[in-house]
Amino acid sequence: MSAGAFYESVHGYFDRAAAYSRFEPGILKQVKDCNAVYRMKFPVRNDDGSVRVVEAFRAEHSFHRLPTKGGIRFSRMVSLNETIALAALMTYKCALVGVPFGGAKGGVKISPAQESEGFRERVTRRYTAELIRKNFIGPDIDVPAPDYGTGEQEMGWIVDTYKNIRMNEPNIYACVTGKPLAMQGIPGRTQATGQGVYFGLRSCLDQAEVAKKLGLTPGLAGKRVILQGLGKVGFHAAKHLQEDGRALIVGVSEQEGGVYNADGLDVVALLRHRQETGSILGFPGTESVDRGALLEFSCDILIPAALENQITAKNAERIQAKVIAEAANGPVDQAGDTILCRRGCLVIPDLFLNAGGVTVSYFEWLKNRAGVSFDRMISRHEELSNRHMLAAMETLTGQQLPGSDRDRLIHGPDELRLVVSALEQTMTRAYERIHEVWLQRDLPDLRTAAFLLAIERVAESYSHHGIFP
Ligand code: GLU
Repeated sequence: MSAGAFYESVHGYFDRAAAYSRFEPGILKQVKDCNAVYRMKFPVRNDDGSVRVVEAFRAEHSFHRLPTKGGIRFSRMVSLNETIALAALMTYKCALVGVPFGGAKGGVKISPAQESEGFRERVTRRYTAELIRKNFIGPDIDVPAPDYGTGEQEMGWIVDTYKNIRMNEPNIYACVTGKPLAMQGIPGRTQATGQGVYFGLRSCLDQAEVAKKLGLTPGLAGKRVILQGLGKVGFHAAKHLQEDGRALIVGVSEQEGGVYNADGLDVVALLRHRQETGSILGFPGTESVDRGALLEFSCDILIPAALENQITAKNAERIQAKVIAEAANGPVDQAGDTILCRRGCLVIPDLFLNAGGVTVSYFEWLKNRAGVSFDRMISRHEELSNRHMLAAMETLTGQQLPGSDRDRLIHGPDELRLVVSALEQTMTRAYERIHEVWLQRDLPDLRTAAFLLAIERVAESYSHHGIFP
């Protein structure tokens, strides 16, 4: 399936929802169209000294809020249209969870797994220099983050390059998020998207009437889950589903194939097995299965957490899951979505479900701008007031709490706890709002509700901008 199909799907989803909007066509077109793109080619030296020309992109989809925000993808499948479609999803994602950014996305056409660390570093630094040259990066302009094929290390190279070129600028660390902790990153960012998927799924399946319509009991406990992609997003989503939600992970697929156990498998041990052996196959207690076929196995929740266009007209009829949780961006194309909805499946859309990553990126950006971590200012104060409160209660009751309970009540929050509780709140609230719009406006599905809500928020903002002469 080509990137063209993904681009068409995002536009198709937009049009379907925009038909319900009260805004005029001109404003809606402004919300839909990509505002700026930078397409570049630059030379990078290979390890053997020869030169390679690398193609890369950065798309800034919407300037209704600044900076624009979105990850950088390293993949040989990257294209201009894919980058634009991903940037558009970022705009809607941010609007949905109330993160005050426009959407953007970057793509670099290399296969990171086949390249040396040295090559990846040279590419990342050169790409950053290109973005700086054209004003496509900066704390108030456009703020990249990790995406498929990139992580903390690449973000570290970006901030280091930026810092050395823009030495005298304020807030330089806010030029990129998803940085290592030692370079002003924030705890919880690596697992944020996956953990957000867990909070989002939980909010949805806790709704008794939603679960009932699907023929399921409310909640996550005991639900059978199949996961596609054991990367950062998929792994952390599955880990939280398993540990906090008490769901059963029955199948996992990766590039090398799929593993299945109807009684459930331990996803933490599975990742360890993959790190040790280079493959998920052969994980004790599981049978090896075809990775494509696994998506069609019986389960309650299917989580595509890899790339776009995984569920299409080719396989949507055979999907047995009742809930399709879009942890990846664009895993279900429009033809696939139509079939799933007709068959009564619930698709929890990407623009809501994977918004936890950019939510925590926002916290990191705020922290970098404030120049202080969140717990530093409040932790000690909370601890002191908790101590006073406890002492007063103990005096009043004449009783003493046991030591461990005492410690738990007294200690102020650390930064990770603050981040996770704010993420939980953001995902829960966003779901409630989408659910409300879905019912109140009698929309066909959750995706249309999410798109409509996002579109109206962005359109509202544009309609107050006036049009610059
Ligand atoms: N790449 C992630 C996404 O698709 C995160 C973007 C960000 O944190 O800016 O949502």
